Amino acid sequence: MKIIKKVDEAFKAARKQKEKDKSIGFVPTMGALHEGHVSLIRQARKENDFVVVSIFVNPTQFGPKEDLKRYPRPIKNDIALCKKEGVDVVFYPEVKQMYPEGYKTYVEVKELSDLLCGKPRPGHFKGVATVVTKLFNIIQPDTAYFGQKDAQQALIIKKMALDLNMPVKIKVMPIVREKDGLAMSSRNVYLSAKERNDAVVLFNSLNLAKVLIANGQRNTGQVILRMKELIRKKKSAKIDYIAVFDLDKLTPLYKVTEDCLIVLAVWIGRTRLIDNIIIRHA
Ligand code: AMP
Repeated sequence: MKIIKKVDEAFKAARKQKEKDKSIGFVPTMGALHEGHVSLIRQARKENDFVVVSIFVNPTQFGPKEDLKRYPRPIKNDIALCKKEGVDVVFYPEVKQMYPEGYKTYVEVKELSDLLCGKPRPGHFKGVATVVTKLFNIIQPDTAYFGQKDAQQALIIKKMALDLNMPVKIKVMPIVREKDGLAMSSRNVYLSAKERNDAVVLFNSLNLAKVLIANGQRNTGQVILRMKELIRKKKSAKIDYIAVFDLDKLTPLYKVTEDCLIVLAVWIGRTRLIDNIIIRHA
């Protein structure tokens, strides 16, 4: 496994594979790798000749008051994990490689970027779309793998790839969870033991929604109300948003008349966690 830190070297390594007609699978990450990331890497390994994982804590997707500085960076573990999973290249650039002095260009997916997580985090998805575009241009993947955990991000990347005619297939893999149901996340390490216990309420509230809908509740307002009641029982929890959307355009649904996506963001103490569930209309 090669560790590449320079953009032009990564570009050349990818180009070499393309010339040999090898397929490239790509998993962009911010590191602090866990089983969620591993599921993407394994899928990429299964489906491609050559697998690239990027590890880059992208500053342009963090707001000024967010956790850029304290974001976990266990790079040695991450590299060992990639090696174990048979990754061919870890692309691990420094910030000035990706954003040299005088950097000016940004990619923005309108509307989809302003909802949900985009509201309290203005500029977040612009940062994501920009870095993913740059990484796609450098790595030239045939297929790129993203997690359903970040449902809005996955939709935005798909839309961006479609709108900008990017020659890459976007695959979205299911959410990997801890035993008790908490969605795996690099930010879970911020939680105290008590908060870690409380955090499972996100998953429990999504399950409650599933049961209510399975039992015939079609009014999404009622579903959200019941979810809120459950979450508010935890003192450490503060709801940012709960919403029910259709699966691809992210339009709010007031009645469950089709497959839907229930998404939520909840602060547990000082840590903002997100989760979601897809519910198929019976
Ligand atoms: P991050 O390092 O948090 O930027 O995540 C990199 C990729 O891993 C993104 O496509 C995430 O959606 C995906 N991912 C993160 N957590 C999970 C999870 N629990 N299950 C599946 N995919 C995940």
